[in-house]
Amino acid sequence: MVHYTCDGCKRPLDDQNDLRYVVKIEVYAAVDPLDLEDQDDRDNLDELHDMLEGADEARANELDDAVYQQHRFDLCPECRKRFMKNPLGRKSTEMFDFSEN
Ligand SMILES: [Zn+2]
Repeated sequence: MVHYTCDGCKRPLDDQNDLRYVVKIEVYAAVDPLDLEDQDDRDNLDELHDMLEGADEARANELDDAVYQQHRFDLCPECRKRFMKNPLGRKSTEMFDFSEN
């Protein structure tokens, strides 16, 4: 039996009793194909290909990370609620007063 831990508050999640939410985050370099077609030279793409092919493997992985990353988190219902309110983890002191515990 697989045991999950909430990636937000680190508490163990019991499959029997706890709802578990999965958050998948994809971060990738935005390239608009239409924009590329509008530019009549494809030098930028060719350059990128040359970089990726010419680089050694470690460097290539580094470049791939810069272009595309995927993360997966398991969240308990409470942390899911918090995440939905503030997905980017922005400081919310303007909205809430945390000064008193
Ligand atoms: Zn949690």
